[in-house]
Amino acid sequence: MKLSLIVPCYNEEGNVEKFFDLVNEVFEGKVEDYEFVFVNDGSKDSTRERLRGLYFDKNEKKNIQVISFSRNFGKEAAIYAGLSRAKGDLMCIIDADLQQRPEVVLEMLEVMKSDDDIDCVTACQEERKEGKPVSFLKTLFYKCINLISEVDFVHNASDFRLFRRNVADALLQMKEYHRFSKGMFSFVGFRTEYIPYTVAERESGESKWSLFKLIMYALEGILAFSTAPLKISLGTSVAFFFFAFLCSVGSFLFSTALTAVLLRIMATVFLVGGAILLNLGIISLYLSKIYVQSKDRPVYILKEHLDYEETD
Ligand code: UDP
Ligand code: MG
Repeated sequence: MKLSLIVPCYNEEGNVEKFFDLVNEVFEGKVEDYEFVFVNDGSKDSTRERLRGLYFDKNEKKNIQVISFSRNFGKEAAIYAGLSRAKGDLMCIIDADLQQRPEVVLEMLEVMKSDDDIDCVTACQEERKEGKPVSFLKTLFYKCINLISEVDFVHNASDFRLFRRNVADALLQMKEYHRFSKGMFSFVGFRTEYIPYTVAERESGESKWSLFKLIMYALEGILAFSTAPLKISLGTSVAFFFFAFLCSVGSFLFSTALTAVLLRIMATVFLVGGAILLNLGIISLYLSKIYVQSKDRPVYILKEHLDYEETD
């Protein structure tokens, strides 16, 4: 079985060669058939030259692919390009910075081999060296998204995954432009096992994630996997109608003319506001259907089809 390592690289000039050497060293005698699918995501440093160097100088096994983007499109786009070009029966998404060690890939292979029914092995980060605020925001994100999304997001599950071709084919069937891997792996389903791993220190260079980028990415996930924000106006309209009702009841209870008039004005404002929000909410319901349809996601994903005509 051939294994494809899909390696997104953005400004990783100090890492790609070390990554290549370490994988070869760790895989020696343990993994027979594997290929590297490096995706250079519009790096501004010499990553592309280094990868071309590997391709032209060290490709005696003919197991290196280098895909270079015209500019930086983001890690999700790099994963998509890697998936569509990988030739393996098994695929593994792994970072180029050596924070995700190739030794863990061997562990994942063991788990995968232990049961034919397992389609995906996901590495879950054990304590990550990140600040309390980031850790709090991440926990909050998972709580919120699991509340409003129909697919389950597993806290700490990383993109560091090993999976079979059927999973990759399913991911490739999802043609959406705004890709959010964590959600997409949940959406496609398949039997997934989780193993813990410790994130190593970055070999060289720095993380491309700032707090702002993380927040934007979380927002991307919510927009891609939930239409709940679109329905907020519907919920608010109910609250507005309730306040309108309270104010009108109040206006009859209070005898002083001024309070009664004020409450009636408030009741009218809430009633008009509620009516506008209700209409917005109805439009949003249709919009959410159009939004989901426009993603052109597969209606179902097959794991197996036993057909009496194809069995002997
Ligand atoms: N990466 C990428 N495109 C980007 C940002 C990152 O291909 O726009 C790659 C990067 O080179 C690395 C992986 O994605 O191999 C993870 O990025 P990073 O190490 O910055 O993330 P962190 O480990 O800090 O979560
Ligand atoms: Mg990293």
